[in-house]
Amino acid sequence: MAKKTCMVCKEKFTGREDKKFCSDSCRSTFNNRINKDENNYVRNVNNALRKNRRILKKINPKGKSKAHRDKLLDAGFNFTYHTNIYTTKSGNVYYYCYDQGYMEVDNDYLVLVEKQF
Ligand SMILES: [Zn+2]
Repeated sequence: MAKKTCMVCKEKFTGREDKKFCSDSCRSTFNNRINKDENNYVRNVNNALRKNRRILKKINPKGKSKAHRDKLLDAGFNFTYHTNIYTTKSGNVYYYCYDQGYMEVDNDYLVLVEKQF
């Protein structure tokens, strides 16, 4: 049996080669930490997407308009996140955050659209 160091509490313990934790409680602490990090990440992305949608909806209340990229950035828009991409037959690419979409046009302007259900 090899002397091992617990990945959670750093205590030394003896156990099989593949054992990483001194106890069940340290193992579940470790797994909970992973879940928490994953949940935090998912929550942050969800929040960013919802915020993006709110911003688009606010700037584009009528469902079709044009706005400068800076207007979205000033409101806290995050261009990293979108829920889906739609490419039209003519090759225009719309990025959607749920039902609110935008397409990049000239001079940092965006055409804003709302998905019709
Ligand atoms: Zn431990």
